[in-house]
Formats: sequence, C-alpha cells, structure tokens
Amino acid sequence: HPTVGVLALQGGVVEHVRAVESLGAHAVKVRSADDLVDPDGAPRIDALILPGGESSTVDRLCRTFGLFDSLQRVVRGGLPTLGTCAGLIMLSSEIEDPAPGQQSLGVLDVSVNRNAFGSQVASAEVELAWEGPASDVVAPGDVVRAAFIRAPEVTRAGDGVEVLARHRGAVVAVRQGSVLGISFHPELTGDTTLHRMLLEQVAARRG
Ligand code: GLN
Repeated sequence: HPTVGVLALQGGVVEHVRAVESLGAHAVKVRSADDLVDPDGAPRIDALILPGGESSTVDRLCRTFGLFDSLQRVVRGGLPTLGTCAGLIMLSSEIEDPAPGQQSLGVLDVSVNRNAFGSQVASAEVELAWEGPASDVVAPGDVVRAAFIRAPEVTRAGDGVEVLARHRGAVVAVRQGSVLGISFHPELTGDTTLHRMLLEQVAARRG
C-alpha cells in the first residue's frame, strides 16, 4: 500500500486523509521536514497532497517549521504531488496577487490569481467536463464533481503544462509531469478521481 503524506499545517486535512484511506492507501500527516524526508533527504512518502486552506498562512507556516526547502526538493525530485486550491497556489511559479511577503514553491510552471472566482461561488459545487488525456482513471468527457471555495484560477500555463479541466472558460486543473494542481476541493464532493490519479502516478513510477 502506498503511503500518501498530507501537509497538515492548516486547512482541509482530514477530508484528504479519508479520501486516501477510502482507496486503500495509507495516509500520514506531514507537519515537519522530519515527517517528509529521512536524514539523507529521501522522501518517506510515496505521494504528497497539499490541501486547501489559506495559501499565505500555509506558506508562512512552511517556512516557520522549516518545511519549505524540503517540500521544494521532493516535488522537484519527482514525488507525485496533488495541490488543491491553496495547495495549487503553493505549487505555482507565480502568484499574481500575493499577500505581502507571500512566496510559492515554484514547482509548477503556472501563474495563478488567488481569488479569481471571488466569494460569489463561495461554496459552489459544479460538474467539470474532463479534457485531460485518457488514463485508467478518467477519460476526456468524463464528469468530475468539484467544489469551489474562494478558488484560484490558472491564468498562464507554461510549456509542458497540460490543461485538464476548465470552469466557465478558466483553467482549473493542470498537470506538469508528476505534479497535479487543481483550483477546487475534490475531497468535499466524494469524487475520488484526482486521488486515484495521484495513486496512478505512484504505480507508474514504481513501474
Ligand atoms: N484563495 C485562497 C488562498 O489564497 C485559497 C482558498 C482555498 O484553498 N479554498 O489561499
């Protein structure tokens, strides 16, 4: 059973733990660099989830607890990673509207607008038509249920970034190699498509 680490500094942690466990994987909460990597710097987990919450708070706590650099290293090293909402903002290479002093990991070549959808769709649950490539988990045209909460939008996707889904024309799901970034909360709708995609990447990596 793969072990999935859920960054547990702030935000929607428990729902991701439940989603991962419902798929038969093992979930661990990551709160320190020691939870994430062994003394040689090798990841202790097979995949990583950066949950939603408030990205500037998560950023600040990551740096306070000395996690920022190890997070950057393991994701750059190819650890399958899923960032949701604030987690997508954390992964991005550019935040258009950062909070004062806010940094991001710069491991996913996208620009994001943190509060693109405003509070209008504060708790909207919508059906997205999947655009991404076919896999064992999801095929183009499949419906993915998504909850948007003060959601960010991907305003620029670099070369090598695949667009997986849009909402009202705005890009809300992308992938670059082993890194998945989505604007919404898949852990709140009972739709485990994204968690299964993450585990699919773990299996692919193991060969
Ligand atoms: N807009 C929020 C931020 O800046 C993200 C909201 C969320 O994760 N639900 O972090």
